[in-house]
Amino acid sequence: MNDRHETESMGHNSMNRVPGWNEELESAFSAYKGPYIAGRVVSRHKTVCEILIPGAVVQAGISGALLRIGKQPVVGDFVVLLDQPELGSRIIVNILPRRTCLSRGAPGDGSGEQVLAANLDTIFIVTSVGKDLNLRRLERYLTVVYSSGASPVILLNKIDLADDPVLITEKIQSIAGDVPVIPLSALSKDGLDALSPYLNPGETVALIGSSGVGKSTLINAFFDEAIQKTADIRKDDEKGRHTTTVRQLFLLPNGAIVIDNPGIREIQLGDSSDGLEKAFPDIVHAAHSCRFKDCTHHDEPGCAVLKAVKEGLIPEERLDSYHRLTDELIFQSKKSEIGLKRLEKEKYREIAVTIKKYKKFKGKP
Ligand code: GDP
Ligand code: ZN
Repeated sequence: MNDRHETESMGHNSMNRVPGWNEELESAFSAYKGPYIAGRVVSRHKTVCEILIPGAVVQAGISGALLRIGKQPVVGDFVVLLDQPELGSRIIVNILPRRTCLSRGAPGDGSGEQVLAANLDTIFIVTSVGKDLNLRRLERYLTVVYSSGASPVILLNKIDLADDPVLITEKIQSIAGDVPVIPLSALSKDGLDALSPYLNPGETVALIGSSGVGKSTLINAFFDEAIQKTADIRKDDEKGRHTTTVRQLFLLPNGAIVIDNPGIREIQLGDSSDGLEKAFPDIVHAAHSCRFKDCTHHDEPGCAVLKAVKEGLIPEERLDSYHRLTDELIFQSKKSEIGLKRLEKEKYREIAVTIKKYKKFKGKP
């Protein structure tokens, strides 16, 4: 529990504050007096977290009380540690308010959404020239990012392989609205300068996108030396092999923070209904003129969205994508409702068992 690794290698020197710390956190933390310190979760393991504190990365357990009320620290969280080095103990006792929160619907188990990372300022949605380029998938990512509260930026990687990078960039821009689309090559480092407005000291970014688009190569390019192993692309399926990393939060030499882990990379659509509206402002705008307020834009008379599609103002594939994502959201919210009911049932069963035991106990002389 007590091993401190120096963080010189993480590239930050004047760190009397936790990276990403701000006044709001300061005031939330000011309630803690005594043996408490603030830190930021660098990686989460089952029962232990690695925490960045001023000048070091330390390990800390998670308090049972926190877990009992269903609070799970995730990478990027600012946490309060009860620091008792003389007892060899360091425990996370609270999670400070999250600024933004990247979540996904937990697949299969019906228990609703799962937070993957917290306090992200910007999310780079990475795609690449070639097979990965899929506007529908980008719309999906935009929906997820918008619902997290972080700002999306689309990176079009591997432009060294493109015949006409401008054309591809314009194609992406057509579905991206005001979201910046940045063509670059992580390999040749062309275009990387355009990312500097999003990599400010104290700001946190994460990267999402399919395997093989070049996320690890990009993170490497942010540093002078390679810290994130990149996988060679397999000839057969053009997909990069998975590279596993222990640490999931990195400090760039200028003090910007990059978060990267497999869960974030493979994000799925969660509870993103407000994100959906932000990702499809053109459809939302047209829908204001639909005859029926609850129009689903499938086959209703007086549907202004269908009219816009007919007139070529909204691409048909884009409306299809909107419908598909809407269906998925409905499915997931039903699934999490079922999950909640199941949890409730289990809780009641637990209470019933406790009462039974109690009665039995009281019945004894
Ligand atoms: P990740 O799965 O998204 O992390 O992808 P990687 O960073 O592991 O990259 C997958 C493959 O794409 C590797 O073979 C990289 O060398 C290659 N790659 C990454 N960026 C570029 C680029 O800008 N241009 C080209 N031509 N290849 C790249
Ligand atoms: Zn309509």
